[in-house]
Amino acid sequence: MNQHIHCIVNDCHYWTQGNSCKANEILVATDQFGDNQPDQIDATMATQLTPSNAGSCMATCCKSYVTKGSNKIGTDGIKRMS
Ligand code: SF4
Repeated sequence: MNQHIHCIVNDCHYWTQGNSCKANEILVATDQFGDNQPDQIDATMATQLTPSNAGSCMATCCKSYVTKGSNKIGTDGIKRMS
């Protein structure tokens, strides 16, 4: 399966021209989860995490976001594809 994640958050380390996400995996979560869990808890641990209800699109976030140039890049084990 060849999935393509489109994203328009252009200060993320994984964002590229054409509004494309180049992370090898991402985790979409509730805002509450994103607010409360540390950076290490991310897509690489997805199979161990408990799902929960969001209620609306405004209550979801990309947990895998990391600011370009941040010293937190790589904390979660996610790789940037070329
Ligand atoms: S990791 Fe999330 S925020 Fe960053 S480019 Fe990919 S989808 Fe967008």
